[in-house]
Amino acid sequence: MTTQSGQLYIVATPIGNLADISQRALDILSAVDWIAAEDTRHSSRLLQHYGIQSKLLALHDHNEKQRAASLLEKLQQGQSIALISDAGTPLISDPGYSLVRHCQQAGVQVVPVPGACALIAALSAAGLPTDQFLFIGFLAAKQQQRLSQLQAIPAGVGTLVCYETARRIQDTLLDVQQVFGSERELVLAKELTKAFEHFARGTADDILQWLQQDPKRCQGEMVLMIAPTAKTESEISETALHTLQLLMAELPLKKAAALTAEIHGLKKNALYQHGLSLQQK
Ligand code: SAM
Repeated sequence: MTTQSGQLYIVATPIGNLADISQRALDILSAVDWIAAEDTRHSSRLLQHYGIQSKLLALHDHNEKQRAASLLEKLQQGQSIALISDAGTPLISDPGYSLVRHCQQAGVQVVPVPGACALIAALSAAGLPTDQFLFIGFLAAKQQQRLSQLQAIPAGVGTLVCYETARRIQDTLLDVQQVFGSERELVLAKELTKAFEHFARGTADDILQWLQQDPKRCQGEMVLMIAPTAKTESEISETALHTLQLLMAELPLKKAAALTAEIHGLKKNALYQHGLSLQQK
């Protein structure tokens, strides 16, 4: 196969199982003049496995802005480049945005070569609604910021999906419990496509208990999914919504939601989320 000169290919690579790569991706990686990789040493293993000998250069978070200009120059000279990340689809919580933006503004063609992506793999097998979902990437490392991020998510966005690290997962589960309540259904997808792939399901408490049963369970890569609220907006009565709106006119949202919850025997978080969506209208 020959690649088109002067094109940038965004090539998805496996997220664990080396066989999860398309024939088209392998053909393009073999044919391009350059492969821009997040970590050249890491990607060498995949490339060696498939006998791919294209020249490698590094494009990571710390050099992307400078590198983007020199890569654009190569593309404008007619060379072809494939962008890959350490795993999965480039630009999805991975470098590449600056380069793609530069190319698009300069009229250089950018070609997607789709494949593995942890968030899609996780959602596809979690058993949670997939008709609507919101991917929120990595949550903040600091607890206060993380809580604010979670509280700011409006109701009605469907399943929430985030990437999480082994080091922070337990703290995040506690924050999710605080914001969405102890009954909310969660799924933690671990080590997708690898030997110890596992989907842990249940409330935040159930998943915390499962993690704490074996220190090895707290290791590895993971995607956390949060089911949409069981109590939909339409289940909150008109009267309760009216109370909420009246109180919101006089009080901060948190207080208005808490009082409405008390008056009507509802969950304050569902009301808080609804209040947020009203404020954003
Ligand atoms: N670009 C990648 C993609 O398409 O999924 C994501 C890169 S991001 C830097 C890495 C995060 O993705 C990990 O911390 C984890 O949350 C998730 N991830 C990647 N591979 C995974 C796997 N095999 N199983 C579960 N989660 C994974």
